Amino acid sequence: MIVKEWCMYCGECAGVCPRCLIEVGETNITFDESSCKDCKICVQVCPVRALEK
Ligand code: SF4
Ligand code: SF4
Repeated sequence: MIVKEWCMYCGECAGVCPRCLIEVGETNITFDESSCKDCKICVQVCPVRALEK
């Protein structure tokens, strides 16, 4: 997963991941790529299209 620099850490992506793989902090975002099932729900909900898979 690639997070673009314009991510505003809103947490939308973390809230929808069915496997709870994304953690969003004040100024950082981390995810457990190894368990990702590629559903791309997180990519779809990002309001600023900051996620790319
Ligand atoms: S939904 Fe988009 S802007 Fe919000 S934290 Fe996730 S990647 Fe960043
Ligand atoms: S693609 Fe699906 S499983 Fe992977 S991080 Fe995004 S929402 Fe979670």
